[in-house]
Amino acid sequence: MENCIFCKIINQEIPSYKIFEDEKVYAFLDISQATKGHTLVVPKQHVTDIFEYDEDLAADVFARIPKIARALEQAFPEMEGLNILNNNKELAYQSVFHSHVHLVPRYSKKDDFSIHFGNHTDQRTPEEMQAIADKIKEQVK
Ligand code: 5GP
Ligand code: ZN
Repeated sequence: MENCIFCKIINQEIPSYKIFEDEKVYAFLDISQATKGHTLVVPKQHVTDIFEYDEDLAADVFARIPKIARALEQAFPEMEGLNILNNNKELAYQSVFHSHVHLVPRYSKKDDFSIHFGNHTDQRTPEEMQAIADKIKEQVK
C-alpha cells in the first residue's frame, strides 16, 4: 500500500535490520529497541489491524513466531522471558497502521517495558461475567 512505512520496508524501499523473511512474513528490528532484540513480525500482505485478518493470514503470521522467538532466545541466552504484543487502533497504542506483532525479549524486571492488567477479580458478579461471555459468544462466527 502506498505511503505505508512497513510496506516500504518489506519492498526494500527503506532500510531495515531484517531478521527473517519468507513469502508470507517479514521480521525486522523495531527502530526503537524497548529491549535488546525487540522485533516486529509483519504480514507481507497489507492489513491495517487484527480485524482485517482472515484465518489463513493469522495462521501464516503466528506460525512463524515460535521460530523467531527461539532465535531470540538462542541469540541472547541472558534473555529470561518474552512478551508478544499486538496493538490494534490508536487507543490501544497502535501507531503504524500495517499490522505487526511485537516480540519483546525480557532480561530483567527493570526493563523499560511493562504491561499492567491490574487485579479486578472482585469487580463483577458471576451474572455480569456470564452476560459478558454470552454477548461475545453470540458474535463468534
Ligand atoms: P505500534 O505502536 O503501532 O504497536 O508499533 C509501531 C512500532 O514501529 C514502534 O515500536 C516503532 O518504534 C516502530 N517503527 C516506526 N517506524 C519505524 C521504522 O521506520 N522502522 C522500524 N524498524 N520500526 C519503526
Ligand atoms: Zn503496509
